[in-house]
Amino acid sequence: MSEGKVLIGVIGGSGLYDPGIFSNVKELKIYTPYGEPSDFVTVGELEGRRVAFLPRHGRRHRIPPHRINYRANMWALKELGVKWVISVSAVGSLRMDYKPGDFVVPDQFIDMTKGRDYTFYDGPVVAHVSMANPFCNHLRKLVIESARKQGITVHERGTYVCIEGPRFSTRAESILWKDVFKADIIGMTLVPEVNLACEAQMCYSTLAMVTDYDVFADRPVTAEEVSKVMAENTAKAKSLLREVIGSLPENPDEGECSCCNSLKTALM
Ligand SMILES: [Zn+2]
Repeated sequence: MSEGKVLIGVIGGSGLYDPGIFSNVKELKIYTPYGEPSDFVTVGELEGRRVAFLPRHGRRHRIPPHRINYRANMWALKELGVKWVISVSAVGSLRMDYKPGDFVVPDQFIDMTKGRDYTFYDGPVVAHVSMANPFCNHLRKLVIESARKQGITVHERGTYVCIEGPRFSTRAESILWKDVFKADIIGMTLVPEVNLACEAQMCYSTLAMVTDYDVFADRPVTAEEVSKVMAENTAKAKSLLREVIGSLPENPDEGECSCCNSLKTALM
């Protein structure tokens, strides 16, 4: 394997613990100033590109959303040289036309988490990064185009409300997210992953896979239905990742975005 920087990082969510699509894999144990990442980072090759993969909850889903060491995870990817982060996650839908099995590439989020470590800048250096457009538009476009090429139903926009978990929402909360906040999808892991990516000046996009309708819909789903949708989503995500990774520019300077300069105006 060619040594040097690994420019592409993939964070796998529920259902995606080992993409099994990389060759020449090596497992790296990475130590960070914030402690240990969720698991070993797997570095491998796909479509001639070097890719780092990290399962967000650890293998066998050991770590709940509120206990994930997001800072260690993002630090580890940055340390390897990652520029693009594709984050895969399972979400609930807050609207009937975002159906189980559909994919969403969110463009906004609302943070309803309560007690996480949100920043690399705990002082004495202080940074306030802009979150007006929290995701990398260039990477989002690539993900959307790749999904379309593969015939996957993908929604180009969406507001992701991130709750603390690990419990699900009450019905009253679910209606609040949907009708008052006008959020489209719901999950527990986007924050602070997305803003740490920005602080680390990495391009970040989420591939959100709708597993079921949130509780507002009052449609009881069986565990069997959910795991069937998740299995189908995971298979689609793997082929989509292959397409996206193959279409990323080989030259890291070719980006069309300003994500990698996000600290220019943020440091105090
Ligand atoms: Zn970017």
